[in-house]
Amino acid sequence: MTSTEHPSTRLHIGGVWRDGTGDRWHEVLDPASGQPIARLPLATAGDLDQALASASAGFDAWRQVPPVERCRVMRIAAEKLRERADAIAALICREQGKRLSEAKLETVSAAEVVEWFAEEGRRSYGRVVPARGSNTVQLVVKEPVGPVAAFTPWNFPINQAVRKIAPALAAGCSIVVKGPEEAPSGVAALVQAFLDAGVPGHVINLVYGDPPSVSRRLIEHPAIRKVSFTGSTVVGKQLAALAGANMKRVTMELGGHAPAIVTDDADLALAVKLLAVQKFWNAGQACISPSRILVQRAVYGEFVSKFVAVARGYKVGSGFDKETRMGPLANPRRLAAMEHFVNDALRCGARLETGGERVGQTGYFFAPTVLSNLDQMARLWNEEPFGPIAAIAPYDSLDEAIVEANRLPYGLAAYVFTRSQIAAHRLGHALQAGMIAINNINLGLPEMPFGGVRDSGYGSEGGSEALEAYFNTKFIGHVVH
Ligand code: NAD
Repeated sequence: MTSTEHPSTRLHIGGVWRDGTGDRWHEVLDPASGQPIARLPLATAGDLDQALASASAGFDAWRQVPPVERCRVMRIAAEKLRERADAIAALICREQGKRLSEAKLETVSAAEVVEWFAEEGRRSYGRVVPARGSNTVQLVVKEPVGPVAAFTPWNFPINQAVRKIAPALAAGCSIVVKGPEEAPSGVAALVQAFLDAGVPGHVINLVYGDPPSVSRRLIEHPAIRKVSFTGSTVVGKQLAALAGANMKRVTMELGGHAPAIVTDDADLALAVKLLAVQKFWNAGQACISPSRILVQRAVYGEFVSKFVAVARGYKVGSGFDKETRMGPLANPRRLAAMEHFVNDALRCGARLETGGERVGQTGYFFAPTVLSNLDQMARLWNEEPFGPIAAIAPYDSLDEAIVEANRLPYGLAAYVFTRSQIAAHRLGHALQAGMIAINNINLGLPEMPFGGVRDSGYGSEGGSEALEAYFNTKFIGHVVH
């Protein structure tokens, strides 16, 4: 695919794909070259109001559709995603930079998410509670919460969106999605799959625009009953405050700075292999990326040298190149941030084990980087890098590792590698995180909760908890005369 072949994405409002009514555009860049590849129309306030009206009409219709029929339509959408996975992956690869194989996996995983929520929607049971009188019926019923405003980021363009759209649709809600301006096509392809499967056009509305203006207009609008955001903690707090002031239900999937604890009896080869995969996946631009690796002192030197060897073996290049192990960063902001993290860490006395600089002068490539001997004051030890930098430090006792892991206000993912059942049990309970993977990296499964605690947000984007967030619970007490 050449850049001229890359299609431009449009807004989807009121069942129609169209440009904005203003003349404001975003230039979509290819992160491998830095060159413009497409133009994206940005929504005006009037466009947003139309999307809100559309979602209101869509909700009135979609909530009436029986769950079994919603399930049938959603399962067709999942099949369409699978059929189109190669084409969708190429769009994501071009706009976001990740490897084509990662983009394809993201797309077929999205199909699985759609199927799981489709089926789970059929099990949105209420309850019949034993009543206090013989002529009384006490019912608990689940009702869709209403039109949803969802804000999805650029790092997993399709997967972050599907974790909001699929549960919303399964529950009977309509939705206005603000997709990522920098990588818009994945969400658009997802929306198209739902439309082609038979979801009425008014039910899913897709907009792009100036993020603060869009979020304010949507969240404040009375039609919107639920807000779901994935992105940074700083922005999440602003949107949660806005939602709170307008009494809207909220799911927040925010940043993390995931600790990984490796004990001295761990399978070191396994720990190195899996933590490197997870660290450099999507060039480290993942909220669950293991970014503070704590290794027990007895095996620290061996772990560092093995991890560094793996990092040095990574070929960095275009996501379309089959030899590539890691693509470019998604945007120039991340490149600047990586340079800043490295320089600051070195100023604080860290040792650069490998990487530490951009690769080439074209595009946003940055070398897989490992830093050791981190000072507690270094920004990297305190702030999520959201890029391909691993920070590794030794620890002596498990107590010390737990204190360090829990020191930051984040609490999204944590990893443990150990052969000790006692250490595994203790860490599983002591680490303050929403998700803990012990001797594996398998987070993000559709049937399992996905979400954080503390500054990493609240609510879940997986498992039955995720669907529950799109329902109101109603008590109907019926005295029969
Ligand atoms: P950013 O905070 O400006 O933006 C993050 C995301 O939020 C983007 O998709 C952006 O469009 C959106 N956003 C920003 N302000 C918004 C607003 N007022 N209303 C609605 N949406 C808004 O930062 P960035 O440079 O794009 O990304 C860097 C940081 O964002 C990272 O350090 C990381 O912490 C965080 N991030 C997290 C995730 C995640 O999966 N949790 C994804 C992307 C970015």
